[in-house]
Amino acid sequence: MKTKSILSPHSEKEIIQAVHQAQESNRSIHCFSAGFNWGYGTNSAIDNQAIHLDLSQMNQIISFDKDLGILKIEPGVTQGDLQAYLEKNNYDYHVPNNGAGHRASIMGNALERGFGIAPLQDHASSILSIRGILSDGSIYESALKEIDPKLADCFSWGVGPQLDKMVSQSSWIIVTEMSIQLKKRQECTDIILLTFSEAQLGQIILMLQNLMSEMEGSIGSIKIFNRKQVIKNNDSLINRIFFSYDEWFLTIVIYSHSLTRNSIIKLTKKRIRQFLKAKVSILNSGKIHFLTKLFSLIPGNESSEHFFKIKDLNEMMNLARGRTSEVGFKALDVDFDYLKNDQFDFAKFDKKLVWFSPICPLIPARALQLIDLVRTLNVDSEFKFKTYTWTILNQRTLALVMPIVYDFDKNENFWEWYKKIHIEMKEKGFIPYRFHNEMMPTLREDLLPHYYGHVKKFENAMNPNSLILKGRY
Ligand SMILES: Cc1cc2nc3c(=O)[nH]c(=O)nc-3n(C[C@H](O)[C@H](O)[C@H](O)COP(=O)(O)OP(=O)(O)OC[C@H]3O[C@@H](n4cnc5c(N)ncnc54)[C@H](O)[C@@H]3O)c2cc1C
Repeated sequence: MKTKSILSPHSEKEIIQAVHQAQESNRSIHCFSAGFNWGYGTNSAIDNQAIHLDLSQMNQIISFDKDLGILKIEPGVTQGDLQAYLEKNNYDYHVPNNGAGHRASIMGNALERGFGIAPLQDHASSILSIRGILSDGSIYESALKEIDPKLADCFSWGVGPQLDKMVSQSSWIIVTEMSIQLKKRQECTDIILLTFSEAQLGQIILMLQNLMSEMEGSIGSIKIFNRKQVIKNNDSLINRIFFSYDEWFLTIVIYSHSLTRNSIIKLTKKRIRQFLKAKVSILNSGKIHFLTKLFSLIPGNESSEHFFKIKDLNEMMNLARGRTSEVGFKALDVDFDYLKNDQFDFAKFDKKLVWFSPICPLIPARALQLIDLVRTLNVDSEFKFKTYTWTILNQRTLALVMPIVYDFDKNENFWEWYKKIHIEMKEKGFIPYRFHNEMMPTLREDLLPHYYGHVKKFENAMNPNSLILKGRY
């Protein structure tokens, strides 16, 4: 029995040594950037004999072109590192953030095809070029780096077959450098908030379909949360100002210049009202500042529910402004107080997190079919989805993201049930955008067997014996 080994390389040279060590000892390599892939297997390998390569020590921001917004990083650079760097240098750019907060890596999230809040929310799509180590120990670089590294970043298609595009959710390369596009912060950020009832969900999806086809350029992110996720105590004053007793809660982030702001907000409100009658609130930094001041005048208010909720609104604004935030932990499950500790780590906790995140065409009938399906699963099962977040990914697609936090050791049936819901979803034409380690065999064998027949051919050529990230995707 071989023992689990964890290596923390500081250079490409040390990674190449690790690859040779793996070849010689007939083991595979599991690599991660920061290792906070919570809900999808965290930093654990599928192959329990694998050598673990913890790349978090390779955490240099190699360069940032402030004119073109091109950032070149090593694997271990976290959201928090990037935020500190941008602030220190007065670069007014968004961090490609997500709900996992400041400890999660930029590279790992892009490689997992994660999505976030700020304008380039599909993080894999912001990858411009890469460099990394292949399973034979050789160095791979994007096509145009042979001509000029800057050109490679500026024209990410390169010339000829585009191998870089196969780097996300894949397992043939240990990425050591990545260039990504950052987006400049716009002058104004407003969040449109409204609540609506279950019966209005279809109308809302139709409205969003129209809004996205007309105004995608001005809209940063659109999310729909179920009430349980955002509002623990419906009686607080803040809740009465911004929320109602409706089931769903919609946020639309609008980016604009002060010269265009009013007309964009006016048009958005007009489009919303064409589809439904609802109270529309606008949140921005000025309003949050005002509310914070107002509530601070009330004695003893710091510990009260109102103040707490204003802080949450401020965190939402931080995310929209491209800063990091841990507020996602609270949204995970409002009943779990331990999640409020910002050093909390699922890897060290007896309860485990698993996501279920099916994607869906941005079509009302399909979205309603999906939510009905999920509700049916909830009725029949001992495992329940408590919180739902719809994310509008683009003009065509939405994702329904649902976490489950359970003590798996005491719930032996979990994985059986989880696999079953994947199969049931497939039968109705839905599939998650991203998979937990435990579900990789299901993905390959049950969900996409034909496609994975082709993937296998590529894998055999680029990653013989599955040396890198064995069993992942
Ligand atoms: C409360 C909460 C909220 C969350 N919100 C979001 C969210 O909004 N959006 C989202 O996308 N996720 C979210 N997550 C899930 C997850 O925690 C994040 O996606 C996180 O960014 C992934 O961890 P990481 O960046 O440290 O990646 P890592 O764990 O470092 O990497 C993830 C995987 O990518 C591959 N990989 C990483 N680095 C390399 C490399 N250098 N070379 C080759 N392969 C590599 C490996 O397969 C690795 O397992 C959330 C989790 C929690 C708990």
